[in-house]
Amino acid sequence: MTHQDLLNAVEEFGSPLYVYDADKIKSQYKRLTDAFRSVDKLKIHYAVKALSNLSVLSLLNKLGAGMDTVSIQEVKLALEAGVLPQDIIYTPNGVSLEEIEEAAELGVKINIDNLSILEQFGTRHPAIPVCVRINPHVMAGGNTNISVGHIDSKFGISIHQLPHIKRIESNTGMIINGIHMHTGSDILDIDVFLYASEILFEAATHFENLEFIDFGSGFKVPYREGDIETNLEEMGEKLSKRFNKFCAERNKDLTLSFEPGKFLVSEAGKFLARVNAVKQTTSTVFAQIDSGFNHLIRPMLYGSRHEIANISNPEGRERFYSVVGYICETDTFGNNRRISEIREGDILSFGNAGAYCMTMSSNYNSRYRPAEVLMVYGKAHLIREREDFEDLIRRQKLIEMEA
Ligand SMILES: *Cc1c(COP(=O)(O)O)cnc(C)c1O
Repeated sequence: MTHQDLLNAVEEFGSPLYVYDADKIKSQYKRLTDAFRSVDKLKIHYAVKALSNLSVLSLLNKLGAGMDTVSIQEVKLALEAGVLPQDIIYTPNGVSLEEIEEAAELGVKINIDNLSILEQFGTRHPAIPVCVRINPHVMAGGNTNISVGHIDSKFGISIHQLPHIKRIESNTGMIINGIHMHTGSDILDIDVFLYASEILFEAATHFENLEFIDFGSGFKVPYREGDIETNLEEMGEKLSKRFNKFCAERNKDLTLSFEPGKFLVSEAGKFLARVNAVKQTTSTVFAQIDSGFNHLIRPMLYGSRHEIANISNPEGRERFYSVVGYICETDTFGNNRRISEIREGDILSFGNAGAYCMTMSSNYNSRYRPAEVLMVYGKAHLIREREDFEDLIRRQKLIEMEA
């Protein structure tokens, strides 16, 4: 997407605005499937929580992706987008048995990450095959908040409890047709990932009815020029080889699965906001935009970096800025950033705004959530309208009372 495309989109749909590039989503999907092209049966489930707009789900589904969902609402969104139930996997954590049963009723694949639930579900529905989420206790994450494979994690069933899983399987007569791990976001070290995979392959030998092995996600994406990222091609080659060998040795025709979110959509998204004011203080120059962490919380929540460019004045002389939002508490998008000269009214573009940005937005400070646009073959399509005052009050009740 060119600067002009983005400026045109703001002109047409207003600010702040999320814009997603369908081409980039397509090329990321292709890069992933190419890396595993030597695997006969490959199934990518896109992690809906990263960006859950129906049109984005539909695009990924048309490319061949199924959906990875973590709530019953995400399951319903995926179905609404036209995804077939058998192409949806439901991987919740800490939800009620009733919610899992509701998902099963909708016909989606079930991934269970708790022995107690496995036993209850197996007892009540022995005919419905399930996948189990294994915690291999390997740290492959970046930020500690997003590493989920380690020993104290709330995710998954410990690999040390494999005998208990097996016992539940035989006691209930249920069928375990898949095993899964998701070691956390931001895989940097391929060897650590392959090490965790070995644990999963070993576990796989214990399940006779296995149909798929799901290696989760956590591919790291670059946040700026020259940034380190998962070497997907190298990982694809190594894991494919190992997977094919495993299938050949065991004489099994398994499906290899992944469920990336960030990798598929992060770089495809730009967040656009207008500069309300440029404010000089004794120590810095603030650029204050018409948005805040209510629309893009990642920098404040876990210190993620989003490149910031002034697309209204890309050739301007560079200066250092602190880019801040309008929320009435600390609300910083970027400190001490070198950006081409910012004038009031300019449009700033934030990179890596496809994943975990709009889906984490809120109405804090009673602001409206932004509109979303999907750029397809150079044409901008509005895929979510900006909220308005009606949305803010829709579910509220003003009661009559004496104070
Ligand atoms: C969040 C999540 C993902 C996606 O992680 P990314 O880092 O966005 O690729 C995949 N699987 C599960 C179970 C998740 O919870």
